[in-house]
Amino acid sequence: MRIRMSVCFAVASIFGLSAARLAAQPANRVTILYDAFGKSSSLKKDWGFSAFVEYNGKRILFDTGNNADIFAENLKALGIDIKKLDFAIISHRHGDHTSGLSYLLSANPTVKIYAPKEPFGVFGAALPGTFLRKDESLPGYMRYYDGHPPEKMTFGTPWPSANFVWIDNLTEVAPGMFVISTVSQTPGTLELRELSLAIKSPKGVILGVGCSHPGIEKILQASIAVEKHVHLVFGGLHLVTTPDPEISRLSAALHDHWKIDRMAPGHCTGEPAFAAFQKAFGDQYVYAGLGSVIELP
Ligand SMILES: [Zn+2]
Ligand SMILES: [Zn+2]
Repeated sequence: MRIRMSVCFAVASIFGLSAARLAAQPANRVTILYDAFGKSSSLKKDWGFSAFVEYNGKRILFDTGNNADIFAENLKALGIDIKKLDFAIISHRHGDHTSGLSYLLSANPTVKIYAPKEPFGVFGAALPGTFLRKDESLPGYMRYYDGHPPEKMTFGTPWPSANFVWIDNLTEVAPGMFVISTVSQTPGTLELRELSLAIKSPKGVILGVGCSHPGIEKILQASIAVEKHVHLVFGGLHLVTTPDPEISRLSAALHDHWKIDRMAPGHCTGEPAFAAFQKAFGDQYVYAGLGSVIELP
């Protein structure tokens, strides 16, 4: 083992790879690939979100950021190879989470991508041809498909080659790894479907969220079906324009009611909420800017 480690270090230094990254393998961790704040000067900041999750030997890409070129550059700078993935998850249809999909598909064309099942959504859809009401009295030229619709009608997507798997309910996608589906009832994103990642860990659920448009508490409520206790939340909580009293209520609720052990907020959580969560969680607040590596139990 010790010999193998030193070989790893030697290889790492030869190729200029991060020695820490190799030495820590196999590790359970989240690396933030895309965000608009961070400490690293070698990574490009931009609005949007993407994270790379390594857990029990599985390699998972969560969202793809806002710009395919920046996404590709940041992956390269971090030495993360997305040719080798177990699966990817796209949390929701917004451009700041989907725009790196073109790069993902060029690097890894067949990867399984879990995406929200939305009627006529951007990830494609299919319905039985019988869903249309018919009127037999019309002449054929006024009828859809001349009166003979196909058994299955499929609806297009900007990524027609993608291996999308549509999700609209809680699904175990690997042992102890779940995709949670929630629907937004918030004005502005009404009926938007969002997927979150829930991983069972020895200390409780690791919960990864994209923008939390349905509301983080609604997602937490749904995660109870996986396990009651949530150990860590990472990702966006969409509180960028939320007034202070609601941020205070929520940070107290996450700490005292939901009893989340550690908070690693990013993306659209917002500066006032970063401050409030840091105050509420103290040393259990996990800084999660671009390039951060969050160790998982
Ligand atoms: Zn969004
Ligand atoms: Zn977003």
